[in-house]
Amino acid sequence: MQGPSLATGAIPTMDWMDVPVVFKPGNYAYPAKADKVAYLDSQSGLHFPNSREWSPEDEDWKLPEDWKEIILKGLKERLEKFRSLKIFMDCCVRCGACADKCHFFLGTGDPKNMPVMRAELLRSVYRNDFTLAGKILGKMAGAREMTASVLKEWFMYSYQCTECRRCSVFCPYGIDTAEVTMMLRELLHLVGVGINWILEPASNSNRTGNHMGLQPHTFKDNVEFLVDDVENLTGIRPNISFNRKGAEILFITPSADVFAEPGLYTAMGYLTLFEAIGLDYTWSTYASEGGNFGLFTNNETMKKLNAKMYAEAKRLGVKYIIGGECGHMWRVIHQYMDTMNGPADFLENPVPPIPGTVFENAASTKMVHISEFTADLIKHGKLKFDKSRNSHVKATYHDSCNTARAMGLMDEPRYILDHVVDWVEMPENTIREQTFCCGSGTGLNTDEIMELRMRSGLPRANAVKYVREKHDVNMLACVCAIDRATLTSLMNYWNPDVGVCGVTELVANAMVLEGETRGELDEGLRTML
Ligand code: SF4
Ligand code: SF4
Repeated sequence: MQGPSLATGAIPTMDWMDVPVVFKPGNYAYPAKADKVAYLDSQSGLHFPNSREWSPEDEDWKLPEDWKEIILKGLKERLEKFRSLKIFMDCCVRCGACADKCHFFLGTGDPKNMPVMRAELLRSVYRNDFTLAGKILGKMAGAREMTASVLKEWFMYSYQCTECRRCSVFCPYGIDTAEVTMMLRELLHLVGVGINWILEPASNSNRTGNHMGLQPHTFKDNVEFLVDDVENLTGIRPNISFNRKGAEILFITPSADVFAEPGLYTAMGYLTLFEAIGLDYTWSTYASEGGNFGLFTNNETMKKLNAKMYAEAKRLGVKYIIGGECGHMWRVIHQYMDTMNGPADFLENPVPPIPGTVFENAASTKMVHISEFTADLIKHGKLKFDKSRNSHVKATYHDSCNTARAMGLMDEPRYILDHVVDWVEMPENTIREQTFCCGSGTGLNTDEIMELRMRSGLPRANAVKYVREKHDVNMLACVCAIDRATLTSLMNYWNPDVGVCGVTELVANAMVLEGETRGELDEGLRTML
């Protein structure tokens, strides 16, 4: 580590404004490919100009000639449109309560990763062009001009924030630095500055329905392979359908669950659970993605990708939607959908036939989280478990930032775990509202920044290490597909003997099914027969 850093005890020798960012392999995510940007720009309602090949390491980023005017106009529009942004720009008192709450700061020691500083990168430009004090006093009032160097700094640090909102829990004013990061990313997209790990999945999702770019027949094949696996293990063959008009429920989950380990086992868990209760539901090969990379891009993309799920629900004529284990899908549903897309009035209030509970909390979104759904089934005695079937697991639970902080889903997964597995909590300042991010959310789970990811995931890994050493924990359960992918790399590095799983995998492991011919499944759904 070089330069000013609390991790090394080095004392900054110059004003933060005078420290330029230096891009080198490993400290930035690759820029978006030109064809992905051009594709997104061609879509109605979206605006992704300036597609080109470029590199952050180049001096010249090939920005539009009038890039500065574009950025300042974009900022002005957003200040007028979003009251929250104006408040966040004006009301920080620099108390520093947020400073050591960010996992990127804790993992890198870089002062510009303190949430207060991350926001200051934008606030300084805001002061310069939009406040009287900044216009008159300039740098003395903490103002600075928008320059190419500032723009590069924005790119560096808006992609070293996972928009996890942990800092906002500790801010006495409730300043949500995640929303500042979102604005920084939006502004950068106005001049063609974005990363490929976000824009390629966003473009795939818009084009084929899912992040992976899986064609409908491939998506269908993948789910059918999982049906075969469940049958081989339990003797029960889940009955499934695709794009079935008139089904009562549309089920949507992140495509990662039907594509890669360990999510595959979570998807097998959904199939087993739904079969056990005889649910009348269908999968869609078009709305084949719960995740919404628009959340990491801009409001328009977020709105468009969310609308796709509801358009499919309307086309199929279902009554409501059940959503799988995903983080950002649920943040969009709970925090933004009502304002952006409006309530889903054309669907019915979710009332699953078994046991008939009215999910009042989903009256507007018409979408029930799989953990709410499962916890309700358990509470009404509709599922039978043999907890000893999970005796190979000693679990702990990771609250995904989005499900915990953005939708308040904290008790249901715990209630489920109580019934299906032996598990323990991590230290209290690392769970529930205070949960530490996996370190690679918001589209940062790309391999070229692996060292950064392992650093930013250190606080979470450290809490897992604690329960591993104290309680022999060997499994980290969660309800988010990105977490399942990112925590796997994080555990491989920091706690190599701890696996990662979805909560629904543990549910299906322990479930006793009517008519089952289940063998000795020493590893639950992971058992290789
Ligand atoms: S905690 Fe809030 S008010 Fe205090 S420095 Fe951080 S953002 Fe500013
Ligand atoms: S939202 Fe999360 S990653 Fe971003 S500054 Fe706050 S704590 Fe750090």
